Amino acid sequence: EVKENGKNNYLVFDSEMMTKIQRKMEIEKALKYALEEKQFHLVYQPKINLQSGQLDGVEALLRWHHSRLGIISPMEFIPAAEETGMIVDIGCWVMRKACEQVKAWQSLGPTELHVAVNVSVIQLEDDAFIDSVRHILDQTKLGPHCLELEITESIMQNTKDTTIILHQLKELGVRTSIDDFGTGYSSLHVLQHLPIDALKIDQSFVRGLDESASSPMVKTIIELGLNLDLDIIAEGIETDFQLQFLKQNGCTLGQGYLLSKPLDRADFERYLKTFSAIH
Ligand code: C2E
Ligand code: MG
Ligand code: MG
Ligand code: MG
Repeated sequence: EVKENGKNNYLVFDSEMMTKIQRKMEIEKALKYALEEKQFHLVYQPKINLQSGQLDGVEALLRWHHSRLGIISPMEFIPAAEETGMIVDIGCWVMRKACEQVKAWQSLGPTELHVAVNVSVIQLEDDAFIDSVRHILDQTKLGPHCLELEITESIMQNTKDTTIILHQLKELGVRTSIDDFGTGYSSLHVLQHLPIDALKIDQSFVRGLDESASSPMVKTIIELGLNLDLDIIAEGIETDFQLQFLKQNGCTLGQGYLLSKPLDRADFERYLKTFSAIH
């Protein structure tokens, strides 16, 4: 089907595009009720200190199960939640839930268990953001140093306001990291001045690590981070070769299916009980 838009240009709608647009509208509509209808839950992926082999904490990852649409990936619904602004409320729910859960787990023994929460730039730019973080920490009684906020690299495009927010988080004692590092627009100049605590090497670089390939990027990112006095977190570790390489090159922390998949509450509690150091 071809439609004229009045300026001698033609917009071509094929059925694939229509299906995509319909799906997107359906997701945006369904998202509006997802919070109140309790369709969200969190899973937790363990983060291991590669140098000591000990459990450092977890990353909370959002899951959405809709009765009719089924399980929808965050890769699909997070952008929709960002575009509609719903990410602000959803993000607060995630942070509160994650802090509550980890506070409860700390009482089972791992008293310094950390939790990382993914935060969208849209949330950071919301005027009420710092107040909601402060409020959630007060309510849940989680130590601020146990909370880490993972922010994607796009934060570096908008340096002025976000730098202020990052400083405010630092004053609160909350840790921050740059997620998916190496895929975005990092300017080394901006990076040098950002008050952050860690870099997460993007999975694509970790995936490229194998016996046959040299890996200058991973080594370089680790060295860059360590020189800036930042922790380096590798995500997407799937093979023992990758694990050993990262460990030997001084990478601080690691996550990936080799170590553990993201776990629901009950599975993480079993994991905690049987955990022994990873080498
Ligand atoms: P991310 O923060 O970079 O999270 C890592 C993603 O990689 C997760 O996918 C995780 O399940 C997956 N993963 C972990 N280990 C491995 C591995 O060894 N191999 C492979 N192939 N994948 C691995 P997930 O849960 O589907 O999340 C995708 C993205 O959605 C996240 O990327 C994050 O950007 C976003 N996201 C998830 N939860 C939230 C949230 O609560 N808020 C916001 N703003 N974004 C979220
Ligand atoms: Mg993340
Ligand atoms: Mg990532
Ligand atoms: Mg990612």
